[in-house]
This record gives sequence, C-alpha cells and structure tokens, in this order.
Amino acid sequence: MEKEYDLTHLINPKEKLPIDSLKKIELQDKLNRAQRELAILYEISNAMRTTLELNRILYIILTGVTSHTGLKFNRAILFLLNNKEQCLEPKMAIGPESGEHAEKIWEYISEANQHFYDLIAEQNIDQNTQSSSLFKSVKHFKVPVDGSQPSLLADAFCSEALLHITKETIAEKYHDDSFLKNFHTNEFIIVPLRSKDRVNGLIIADNYYTQKPITPQDYKIFTMLATQAGLAIDNSRLYEETEYRSQTDPITGLWNHGYFQKQLSLGIEDPRKINHPISLIILDIDNFKKLNDAYGHQSGDFVLKELAKIIKDSSRDIDFVCRYGGEEFSIILTQTNREQGHYIAERLRQKIAERPFHLSTMDNPVFVTVSLGLATFPNDSADKENLISKADKAMYKAKYNGKNQTCVPD
Ligand code: GH3
Ligand code: MG
Ligand code: MG
Repeated sequence: MEKEYDLTHLINPKEKLPIDSLKKIELQDKLNRAQRELAILYEISNAMRTTLELNRILYIILTGVTSHTGLKFNRAILFLLNNKEQCLEPKMAIGPESGEHAEKIWEYISEANQHFYDLIAEQNIDQNTQSSSLFKSVKHFKVPVDGSQPSLLADAFCSEALLHITKETIAEKYHDDSFLKNFHTNEFIIVPLRSKDRVNGLIIADNYYTQKPITPQDYKIFTMLATQAGLAIDNSRLYEETEYRSQTDPITGLWNHGYFQKQLSLGIEDPRKINHPISLIILDIDNFKKLNDAYGHQSGDFVLKELAKIIKDSSRDIDFVCRYGGEEFSIILTQTNREQGHYIAERLRQKIAERPFHLSTMDNPVFVTVSLGLATFPNDSADKENLISKADKAMYKAKYNGKNQTCVPD
C-alpha cells in the first residue's frame, strides 16, 4: 500500500492527496490504452511504408481498422476521391459475410494467435476484398461531391470532420439516404482521409455484429490513423501516376517503346507462359511523309491519334498496343499463334484502309494504308531481339512488295 501512495504523489505531486484505488485503476487503464494505441499506429504506419502499391496500402489500412490487433471494428469500407469526376468511389471493403462467419474468423484468429503482419501478408487481396458481399453491396455506389446531389457521404466529405452516426441521427436526418439503403447498420463512424490540405477519401466503419458502441476513444485513434493513411494513399497514387506516365506515349496514349520491350521480355521469359505462343505485329503507316507534307504536321498527329484508337479498339485486353517509334506501332498478341496472328493483322489492315479520316482542313476525307510484319514466338524465334528483327524485316518485305499488306518471315 505504501508504494501505491508514493506512485500517486508522483502522478499528481501538487495535491499530495492519496487517490483511491478506483482512480488508480482508471489511470492505469488509460495508460495501457494509450500504449496499445501507440503500438497499433506504429505497426500500421510501418506497414504502410513497406509498399507504394495502392491496393496493398488500402488493405493495410482496412486491416488496421478491423483486426483484433488493430482498431477492432467489425466492418470497414474505403472510398477514394476521383478527382476528374469529382465523386467518391468505393475501392475496398473488409467485413465478414455473416454473424456466423464473423464468429468463425475471430475464433480462428485468436486460436492461431495471428499478428498484424501475418494478416497483411495476404496474397490474394483483390479476390478477398472485391468478392466480399460487403463490397458487392456498395461497389456501384458513386457519391458526387460537387454539390449536385446532397447525401450523407457528401456531407461527411465536405465537413472534413469525423462523423459519428447513431440510430437517432439516421432516423432524424438520413432515413432516406441511398448509401444506407445498401449499407444496413445502426451506428457507424465516417472518418475523412486527409492528405496535406485536402480530403482524399473516407473510411466507414461499424460494429454491426458485436453491436459494441463506438466511443470518443475510437475517434481519437481513428483520426490519427486516417492522417497517416491519407498521406500514404496520396504518395502511392502519385507514384502510380508517374509510373504510368513514364510508360505511355503522350500523343496516342499507347504504351511506349520501353514498356513494349519490358512486356515482350516478360511474355517470352515467363516460364508459366512457355507453352503459349505470342505473335508480334510491327505496323508502319504507308507514305506518311507525303501526308505530313500535303496536309501539315498537325493533320499527321491527328491521323496518328485516330489510328492508335482504331488499333486499341480492335485489340483484346490481354494484348499490348504500343507506339514503337514515330509512325510505327507494335502489338503484342498474347496467346496467339501465327495463323491467328495473321488473321488479326489482315483484319486490322482492312479496317484501317476502309476508314475515312476527316481532317479539319479538308472537305473530303483522306484514306491511309499500313504495312504489317508478323513474327511468332517460339516458331519464328525464341529470342526477343531476334523476334523483333524478324517482325521488322517482314514489315519491310510488305513495303517492298507494294505496301498495304501483311508479311511473315520466310
Ligand atoms: P513508307 O511508306 O516507306 O513507310 O514511307 P513513309 O513516308 O511513311 O516513311 P518515312 O520513314 O520516309 O517517313 C516517316 C514520316 O513520319 C516522317 C516523319 O516526319 C513522320 N513522323 C514521325 N513521327 C511523327 C509524329 O509524331 N507526328 C507526325 N505528324 N509525323 C511523324
Ligand atoms: Mg517508319
Ligand atoms: Mg511509314
């Protein structure tokens, strides 16, 4: 007992009064809680620093909000601001499928004694988060934040402050809110994600299954987490944007030469794809210099852009359409043999030849033809440089033979 009084004097030396045991327990609780909160924040911020990949960062944030070693919320949804469209879009959600599922997960986690780092090591983030019924229930939900459609989430975004929404607030103000028609809950918290001087997203979290009330203590740690999260998201988006720009051609929006080389290497060297043929097309515009000379460089640029669109629209999502050089394009046709590649190349050539190009300076449309060279991996070559060289030579053969045609290696 003596020692306990000593400790109290240290905590509050001015009063020199003994504090009863209850207060001491309360203080100890506060201290423990503060320590735990600091440890959580430290763990989550450290984890966010290990990656620049946006999806993994979002997963770390939501795992931090929902895990037993984190903020312990039952469910969480993350919305990000789409700057161009000025709306919030749901990006990820974590939450059990049902009360039963929740029990199972918590039982498993506590038995397996899983740490935060085990939880975020998840490999199939997309599969796990995008296919959950929680995400599916909100995934088409876009929230305009330009004032055109007032809503609960738009209010939360504009207020830039944490909102604690209770059963009473819902009944009073938001019983008709479209988000709450998809997200059934009694009580939840909306926390803005902040980066520098602006809000770039929201996290919505609740305790739907445990019905544990949300307290001011939750606000404090959630707000601190949201500041770290907002910054990490902004850095990652900036990184992904810069990376995307460094891999694309600004005039046509197609992949650039560097990216073409990288993808072709990956396609050829990836041992999992060893049994999949790849066809490579090199396409060059016929007499493009003449077109430039006759109608001007701007018209030439217009034709390049339109042609890029035609090629892109004619290709599949698994193909890579690239601007190889000035007026040359390359197309990596994934899982495509020579016969299929030739069919695709010829279909594209015809489509281009038939398409009228309406130049702003001309009353009548102009027509453009292209010459294509096709080489197929591994039949024509198993070596990347050699494959490119064969497609290139085939393209020159097409030029030599009279242009507006597709050739393959001899
Ligand atoms: P061929 O049928 O033999 O391919 O003849 P060509 O005139 O198309 O080929 P050549 O190699 O003689 O000239 C290519 C032209 O493409 C010259 C160059 O000014 C033009 N060019 C390359 N890049 C661009 C571009 O970004 N914009 C415009 N407008 N023209 C470009
Ligand atoms: Mg050329
Ligand atoms: Mg040319």
